[in-house]
Amino acid sequence: MWDEADSRPVRWAYLVVLVGVLVAVVVLWVVVGATDAFRRVTFPTIVVVHSVLAVGVVIRRLPLRVVGVWLVGSMAALLFGRLVSWEAELVARPENLGVSVVVVLGWFGIVFSLSFLAFGTRRGAQVSGAGFVLLYLGLGASLSRGMLAELGVSELMVFMPVGHATLIAVVWVLARNMEQLAAARAAAELMQLQVTTDPLTGVANRRRLDDELVRLVSQARRYGQPLSVVLLDLDHFKDINDALGHEVGDRVLVETVDRVQATIRDADLLGRWGGEEFLLLVPNTGHQAACSLAERCRHAIAIAPMHQAGVAVTASFGVVSLRPDDDVRALLRRADLAMYTAKSDGRNRVVSIPDLIFPDEAQATDLPHRPPGQR
Ligand code: GH3
Ligand code: MG
Ligand code: MG
Repeated sequence: MWDEADSRPVRWAYLVVLVGVLVAVVVLWVVVGATDAFRRVTFPTIVVVHSVLAVGVVIRRLPLRVVGVWLVGSMAALLFGRLVSWEAELVARPENLGVSVVVVLGWFGIVFSLSFLAFGTRRGAQVSGAGFVLLYLGLGASLSRGMLAELGVSELMVFMPVGHATLIAVVWVLARNMEQLAAARAAAELMQLQVTTDPLTGVANRRRLDDELVRLVSQARRYGQPLSVVLLDLDHFKDINDALGHEVGDRVLVETVDRVQATIRDADLLGRWGGEEFLLLVPNTGHQAACSLAERCRHAIAIAPMHQAGVAVTASFGVVSLRPDDDVRALLRRADLAMYTAKSDGRNRVVSIPDLIFPDEAQATDLPHRPPGQR
C-alpha cells in the first residue's frame, strides 16, 4: 500500500504510538503497580508486543501493514476489554470511573485514526465505522442498564460519539485526498516517462536529450568539468529495411541500443536522436576517454551479427568535446561534421574533432581526427 517514499512518515507514526504506549505502561506499572487482574494480564502483554513491534519497525523486518493491523487490533481489544472488565465487574471499578471511561473513549479516537493508516482509505473507513457502531451500541446498552446507568449521562459522554464521528469523517477525507494525490503523482510520473522516452528502444528521446544537453553543458561550464558527445548513425540501414523489412530494421535498432547500453556507464546517457541516429552524452569525460568509449561501442555493434534480426550491422561515430566558447548548437554541429566524415571515410569507424576545456590539454586543431587504432 505504501511505497518507500510514503512509508517513512507511517513508520514514524507507528513508532510514536508503540514507544509512547510502552513507556506509559512501564511508568504506570512502576509507579502505581499492576493493581488489578486486567492490568496484570495486559501490562506484560503490552510490554512484549510493543517491544517486538517497535524493534521490527526500527530494523525494518516487519512489513508496515502487519505492524498497523497488529497495533489497531491489539489496542482495540485492550480498550474494549477495559470497558467490558468494568461493565461485567470482572475487576473492581475505579473510584473515578467516569473519568476513566472518558480516557478509554478518547483512546478509541486514536485507534480510529490509526485504522486508516493500517488498512488504507476504504478498509480504514469500514473498520473504524464498524468499531464506532460496536462501541456505541455497547455503551448504549450500558447506559440503559449497566455501568453507565449508574454514572448517569455526562456532557463528555454525549459529545464523544459526535467527536468520534467527526474525527472519522475528517481522517477519511484526508486519506482520500492523499490517495488521489498519490494516484495523480504516479500518472504524472508515467506521463513524464512517456514524454521523454523513445517507445521503440526505451532510451531517452530527442526532447530529453535536448534538455539534458543544455543541463550538462551549463554544469560542465560551471564546475569546469569535461563533457563529450558521441553521435552514431547505423550504416546503410535503409538497405536492411529494404531487403528484410521494417520489422527486422526495428529489431536491429533495439539490439543496437542494447549493445551500446551494455558498453556505457550509468552516468552516460544514450538517446535516440532520430531514425537510426543515436546521441550519447558522456559527462565528466575528456576527449580521449570518449573516443575509446565510442570505439568500444563501434566494436560491440560490429563484432557479430544481431542475434534477433540475424543481420550484421555497423555504425559510424562522431566524437566531440565541449570547448570553453561552445554552445549546444556548435557542439552538435561539430558532432555532425565528425559523424559525416566517418561516413565519407568509409563508415564503421570513429572520427573525432578534438578539443578540450582545459587549455593545457587542448590539441589545437579543428580538423577531423582519427584516434589510435583507426585507419
Ligand atoms: P548511411 O550509411 O549513409 O547512414 O545510410 P542509411 O541507409 O543508414 O541512411 P538513410 O538516411 O538513407 O536511411 C535511414 C533509414 O532509416 C531510412 C528510414 O526508413 C529508416 N528508419 C528511420 N527510422 C526507422 C525506424 O524506426 N524503424 C525502421 N525500421 N527504420 C527506420
Ligand atoms: Mg544511417
Ligand atoms: Mg541517418
